[in-house]
Amino acid sequence: MSKPQRNTKARDPGLDVRLPKETCTDTKCPFHGHLKVRGQILEGVVVSTKMQNTVVVERTLLHYVPKYERYEKRKSRYMVHAPPCLKVTDGKRVRMAETRPIAKNVSFVLVENLGEASVQVKGEEEVKT
Ligand SMILES: [Zn+2]
Repeated sequence: MSKPQRNTKARDPGLDVRLPKETCTDTKCPFHGHLKVRGQILEGVVVSTKMQNTVVVERTLLHYVPKYERYEKRKSRYMVHAPPCLKVTDGKRVRMAETRPIAKNVSFVLVENLGEASVQVKGEEEVKT
């Protein structure tokens, strides 16, 4: 009974994100494809867009070391599927959501482009310029 999905209208994936203005034909897009998201939602900065439809997102987080009563900086990198409608480039701050495994090392998908990564510090994360 369901009507075939038209690519002109974005499907709401059930997240608190802005829907992309652009449209795309990517079947692995949470807005215009069939990809379901569940699990963690993380923020990071795009550091590489050399792969096809996949970007590398880096998070910087502070880990407390009790012995020295100080924080050490830690980094983690994620390979994240990037639907073309979000139009991300290097240095953009993005929000990603966990999804089913899309490839061997890809189980997150970008859900929001938060714009240029600035020097703002938000929560436990620090943004690199
Ligand atoms: Zn899309």
